[in-house]
Amino acid sequence: MQDLTLIPATGTALPATPFRGRHLIGGEWVDSTDTFDRASPAHGVLVSRSAKGTAEDTEAAIAAARAAFDSGVWSRASGKDRATVLLKVADLIEANVERMTLLECLETGKPIAQARGEIAGAADLWRYAAAQARTLHGDSHNSLGPDMLAMVLKEPIGVVSIITPWNFPFWILGQKLPFALAAGCTCVVKPSEVTPSTTVILGELLIEAGLPAGVVNIVLGYGQPVGALMASHPEVDMVTFTGSTAVGKSIQAAASATLKKVSLELGGKNPQVIFPDADLDSAADAVTFGVYFNAGECCNSGSRIIVHEDVAEAFTAKVVALSRKVAFGDPLDEATQVGAIVTPAHQAKIHGYVQEAVAAGATVALGGAPLPVPGLSGDFYAPTVVTGVTPDMAIARDEVFGPILSVLTFRTLDQAIALANNASYGLSAGVWSENVHTCLAFARAAQAGTVWTNTWMDGFPEVTFGGVKQSGLGRENGRYGLDEFLEVKSVVMRIGRSRANWVRG
Ligand code: NAD
Repeated sequence: MQDLTLIPATGTALPATPFRGRHLIGGEWVDSTDTFDRASPAHGVLVSRSAKGTAEDTEAAIAAARAAFDSGVWSRASGKDRATVLLKVADLIEANVERMTLLECLETGKPIAQARGEIAGAADLWRYAAAQARTLHGDSHNSLGPDMLAMVLKEPIGVVSIITPWNFPFWILGQKLPFALAAGCTCVVKPSEVTPSTTVILGELLIEAGLPAGVVNIVLGYGQPVGALMASHPEVDMVTFTGSTAVGKSIQAAASATLKKVSLELGGKNPQVIFPDADLDSAADAVTFGVYFNAGECCNSGSRIIVHEDVAEAFTAKVVALSRKVAFGDPLDEATQVGAIVTPAHQAKIHGYVQEAVAAGATVALGGAPLPVPGLSGDFYAPTVVTGVTPDMAIARDEVFGPILSVLTFRTLDQAIALANNASYGLSAGVWSENVHTCLAFARAAQAGTVWTNTWMDGFPEVTFGGVKQSGLGRENGRYGLDEFLEVKSVVMRIGRSRANWVRG
């Protein structure tokens, strides 16, 4: 592990008492008999102790959301009133950034600077959704003939279950909850059992912002029984889920008995294709960012590159050189760029992929093993570049979800497209070339919900996001993100008396 950039333990004082997480049901904070704990994956310190939700807690939260929706207190509120609350929430998020940043950093193991960016950045999602609340409208049809007029009304879909993962707990909630609220829905939210605390703090902020009781309910706990019941319950109208493809499939199956709408943001195996005429320095930097950001525990991780044979060796050398400069270590240090792996089991899974690839003939150009960080007991994995990867290897097709880059090569555009599309996933893809025709040809052929050209992982509340193939169903952000939470109803009106009677005589 020579020549890597390691950030040792900072020695920062860690919380003496754990954050206490409770459910928010019908406007009240509620405990369960049992609790569950989360320790910081980098330091081993107890970060939070949360109420462990039961089926009864989940039933109560769904009943509260149903009653709030049916009362009309939020579903029939004006767009202006909804926007006023969403804007207040955005302000409160900004006022509470540091408190939430520390918990997000400690529960996920991500670097504190990135945790801060995630929390502060989410405020903008709430502001954008507030703008959507005020501009929401349907259609009218004024060319159906002289006596006819029709309207298409947009209505909130109803009670929405929101189930989120551990890798960007606050950001991902921000891609769902404010949009559901802008539409007029009421919600039951279940954060990951690994990262519950910032969702609980958001609950406090929602109350402070004046959101009526029961409009947002939070149940803490595990997939069983909480998440599964949220996906199958007859009083829930829609489930929006971000997480693994395997759990996404089980949610779709659970929701099918009552034909709920389902929106799924799932895994990815996202390729970046590098053509020889690209700005190779910019591409190498973006590839390095794409694979190590959030320790690769990122649905948009640029976990495989497909490089033209003429530049493959030189390009890989650039990425390896940059990888040595990326600061790995204590998440509490402001300089750290890559923190801890979320759990020991996940660390073992990541290492298994690397070992399997090596056994199949791939070469480790950098890293390839757990990385001890001085002064810390947690799991860290070295920045890893694996070359000689072939399309049949699991590391080329599966979502590894760690700081591991797989390098494949190509000769022609068609080969590059075929390799890029050779995965069951279709979340995002990237192309690097100075030739706009090459970029557009790739963008049009790529099976992906987002294609970045000469950049990687730029996202905006305005620009819709989601996956094709087994990366998901539905979209978030932008106007499509709001549409997910809306039902449409056509109202057809006769406005004259000219209709000929159907019954003759
Ligand atoms: P996960 O699927 O294990 O868990 C996600 C959530 O589902 C958690 O809250 C969990 O408690 C809950 N859950 C588990 N079993 C359930 C069940 N049977 N019914 C209902 N809920 C259940 O995912 P994770 O490990 O927390 O997150 C990592 C995964 O998330 C990766 O695959 C990643 O690609 C994906 N992800 C996708 C996006 C995207 O936008 N496409 C974004 C971030 C993460």
